[in-house]
Amino acid sequence: MFDNLKKAFSNVSTGFSEKDLNEKDIEDVLFELEINLLESDVATEVIDSIKDSLKEKIIGSRVEKKNIQSFVKQSLIEFISETFDNAGHIDLVARINEKKSSNEPFIVVFVGINGTGKTTSLAKVANMLKNEKLSVVIAAADTYRAGAIEQLREHTNRLNLKIIAQNYGSDPAAVAKDAVLYAKSHKVDCVLVDTAGRMQTSSNLMEQIAKITKVVKPDMKIFVGDSLAGNDTVNQAREFHKQVNFECSILTKSDADARGGAALSIVKVTSTPIIFVGIGQEYDDIVKFNKQTFLENVFESTDIDVPSISEIKVSEPEPQPEPEPEPEPQPESEESDDPFNGIETDDINNYADMYDIPPPETDNEAKKLANQIKKWIKDGRPKP
Ligand code: GDP
Repeated sequence: MFDNLKKAFSNVSTGFSEKDLNEKDIEDVLFELEINLLESDVATEVIDSIKDSLKEKIIGSRVEKKNIQSFVKQSLIEFISETFDNAGHIDLVARINEKKSSNEPFIVVFVGINGTGKTTSLAKVANMLKNEKLSVVIAAADTYRAGAIEQLREHTNRLNLKIIAQNYGSDPAAVAKDAVLYAKSHKVDCVLVDTAGRMQTSSNLMEQIAKITKVVKPDMKIFVGDSLAGNDTVNQAREFHKQVNFECSILTKSDADARGGAALSIVKVTSTPIIFVGIGQEYDDIVKFNKQTFLENVFESTDIDVPSISEIKVSEPEPQPEPEPEPEPQPESEESDDPFNGIETDDINNYADMYDIPPPETDNEAKKLANQIKKWIKDGRPKP
């Protein structure tokens, strides 16, 4: 999971630790980071922010070379963490319970392109709310795509939930309104509205969602994005956010996402949080988005507790040790390189008959001969 993103961030940390930190080297490492992040589906404006933030931190600080790797890693963690924090946090169940106390149904409209997993995610959320003891009614307000109503009806049958549907081609806003009226009259806690994911044109689609929104006044609009569709998903999020102004997202198919950039990009581009992540095709395969889990997937858990930047930063140059005094020239060591050192010429002549061999050619031979002569000098000429 998220292997590309993990690699991109790990490469930039080691990249900096292997280079000098002059302007040219910093640019080189950041360029490589840019390429890696593009391959991880991180949107260009997010890449620019990451690069700017890193550059500013590195240039503005005096980090010791040995600390640069943790410094870069910590800077990236802080950037990502702040991005998610700035988008805020939404607790869907708490919000529904809040509204429930005023005896009003909480209305959620799901928006997104066909095929992203919108219907499946709606069913997963319905199941989750049911498990939280909240009552749910579903509005089949995609009256455009053939099969959409049947697909939703299959989910509600399996989950034993009430569905409000009309015929294909009927007004989706009217279907949504019917569901809200049903919820009010039956004291249902929550209405989940499915919407079309494609129409003749994108503006038709946005107008239709705007009409539903105007009629039922939802408490929350949730964008559903497919993490496997990479930058397409980010572009869809940007467009839907501009037109529909959704409050949060569900990111589907995270179980199969090797790149990992979509979550960060959607949150940064829309400044809204991801509330749930789809991790499979079963109803229970949905989890709350968790910043810490994301960071652990990308940076590996054990290393997250690196010292804070202020701890790493070296504001004062480290005191340099006093320079060592130049060593006094030492007298020639007693052990000379010459193996014959200490043997007089007379001794050599004296024992010349004992080594009737050509003069030694290697150091080893010379050493061996010198040792023999020294032994003869010490022990006397060996007896024949
Ligand atoms: P819609 O057209 O947006 O309503 O998409 P669907 O709900 O029909 O889903 C499209 C396909 O994606 C289906 O085969 C789903 O089972 C599958 N799907 C949805 N969410 C996930 C998920 O989180 N993980 C995986 N692996 N598949 C998913």
